[in-house]
Amino acid sequence: MKKKKAFCYECRNDVAYTVKEVSMVGKLKGNEYSYNGRVGYCEDCKAEVYIPEIDDHNLKVLYDKYRRENNIIPLEKIMGIPEMYDIGKRPLSLLLGWGEQTFTRYLDGDMPTKQYSEILQKIYDDPKAYMELLEENKGNLKSTNAYEKSKRKVEKLLIMDGDEPSIIDEVIDYVLDECEDITPLALQKVLYYIQGFYYAFYEKFVFSNDCEAWVHGPVYKDIYVTYCKYRFDPIESSKECIASKLTTSEITVIDCVIKNLSCYSGKILEKFTHSESPWIETRGELSPFVASNRIIDKDLIGQYFLNVKEKYNMLSPADIKVYSNMMFDRI
Ligand SMILES: [Zn+2]
Repeated sequence: MKKKKAFCYECRNDVAYTVKEVSMVGKLKGNEYSYNGRVGYCEDCKAEVYIPEIDDHNLKVLYDKYRRENNIIPLEKIMGIPEMYDIGKRPLSLLLGWGEQTFTRYLDGDMPTKQYSEILQKIYDDPKAYMELLEENKGNLKSTNAYEKSKRKVEKLLIMDGDEPSIIDEVIDYVLDECEDITPLALQKVLYYIQGFYYAFYEKFVFSNDCEAWVHGPVYKDIYVTYCKYRFDPIESSKECIASKLTTSEITVIDCVIKNLSCYSGKILEKFTHSESPWIETRGELSPFVASNRIIDKDLIGQYFLNVKEKYNMLSPADIKVYSNMMFDRI
């Protein structure tokens, strides 16, 4: 791979550079926030070099920190709303009674006010709240088509809410029951590995849900929404696992993933998935901290795990251990 270059003002030349993590303090809306940013250094003279992507990255980290400390809805969630309710960004803005461009500005990374953030959070969390808004403010929309399309989608979501537990819910119930302490981040990765390794051994998937290539690895969005309130804490499992619909082969794979992968922290598992091709290929040219809801094609997942099984001579799900040990040694 060709090394990236940047202009060094000391050397007066395009130079190769090294990136280092540095703790920084940024000022935003009158307050200071410390965060881990990055700096590029010229490899010839060690002077700092300016790299636009690094600048963007640092700004993103600072903004994320600000959002967390001030309870402002994360950008990833804002990005999820139009798709969740099948509505364009401008109609959505009008529906909320805002300026036509306001929602688009938030999508581009502008910081919502606390009041607007709470509104966004509410409709993100609660399809019923969105439905009420849609009915109340449909007069703001420029076309009835946008209203009807969105209404169909939210009705579907509301029906799904009251539905029988889906397969992915069964898998989650089982995992939560077996794992003493699992965080939302680790749960996402465990679901991903269950899906991937089940395919490797049985050439079909356990559940139909798609996962997205988020900054922190593959994420099943609906599941993220359900458990995000636990943040970095273990999820409390409330239900007793009764009469699961899972098959014996599904349970075998789930048990082996739990045994060999759920023992790692969410952050370690994130490193695993960051070095695997389905996530990398789906992210493509996106820089590491850019939010995205690109779907990881199931074919990419299936093919990757088939290759893993072949490459490491895995004969049964118990051999998942070979893969997890190897990954842990490599990071
Ligand atoms: Zn230099």
